[in-house]
Amino acid sequence: MEKIKFTSTGAFTQALKQRVNEFFKKNNISKKGNFNLHLKSTILLVSFVISYIGAFYLPPFTLLRIISTIILGFSVVGIGFNIMHDGAHGSYSTKSWINTLAGHSMNLIGATVSLWKPKHNILHHTFTNIAGHDDDIELYPLVRTLPHQKKLLLHRVQNWYFWALYPFHLFLWIYGSDFQQYFKQRVATQKVPFSTREHFIFWITKITHIGLFLVLPICTVGIIATLVSYIVTMMIASIILSFVFQCAHLVTETTMRDVGDEHTKEWTVHQLETTADFGQKSKMLTWFLGGLNFQVEHHLFHDISHVHYPKISRIVKETCAEFKIPYHEYPTFLGALKSHFSYMKKMAIT
Ligand SMILES: [Zn+2]
Repeated sequence: MEKIKFTSTGAFTQALKQRVNEFFKKNNISKKGNFNLHLKSTILLVSFVISYIGAFYLPPFTLLRIISTIILGFSVVGIGFNIMHDGAHGSYSTKSWINTLAGHSMNLIGATVSLWKPKHNILHHTFTNIAGHDDDIELYPLVRTLPHQKKLLLHRVQNWYFWALYPFHLFLWIYGSDFQQYFKQRVATQKVPFSTREHFIFWITKITHIGLFLVLPICTVGIIATLVSYIVTMMIASIILSFVFQCAHLVTETTMRDVGDEHTKEWTVHQLETTADFGQKSKMLTWFLGGLNFQVEHHLFHDISHVHYPKISRIVKETCAEFKIPYHEYPTFLGALKSHFSYMKKMAIT
């Protein structure tokens, strides 16, 4: 397959990197995670353990069990956003073994970080919004997410159903694409040969997930209550995960590309054209989403921990204005959500 080639040099890229590096030097701070991230990780992990016990082992259909199930859904996705994502990008800590451990928190949720890394770190982060390359925005043939994809009959009404698929995201991932990619040893255009250790981790992950979330609670409190808790937890996590991710890329402001399209050669400029921020001023969103509402900064500096994005966003914004490069930003999450729905409708009618 033809590949788009980018360059990591250019006046804008150099100026941006220099200014961001100066910020860390001047303030004498590490680019990796800090005390705030470690505290947040502890809160999320403790919340995961307590809510797991409440959601699966309290008497069925009691108020406390329902509340625990909702908190567990948020904890699952919170661990993914804040611990796993930074760890898999190597930005959680200066120590590589801690990053590996943080990245493997994804396995706690039932998915495999070794398969997610090539899909996200390489394909999505390099070829953002490029048809046939960016596997993270690929929902075809069920949903047409890019103008370059052939429009099928069902896509004409996709704005009526695309959102109804989002609650199933984690089920399709854990029990579908993970196994498909594992047996093919391939993620889209990337070959992913597994070592013996990775084969072992893959199967332990699946067995542990099914054991912890299904077998053990079924044996303790019964099948119906367990299935309800499991399905609700995974659906809550899936809905949050899908909307947060899609609102940063599949919105009306951002650019979509095909491999043959005319495009900027500067990789940083491509990232700015294809990515959007939202709700930057919301402290709650920024805390919980692990900087995914600062997706522009994440795409430009994925080796920097998300805890620093609010501060470096000012530098990015000013540099973009100076070089007359777009900086996409929605003031609120609701604004980005509306834009995502408009974009998906546009893909249905054009
Ligand atoms: Zn990322």
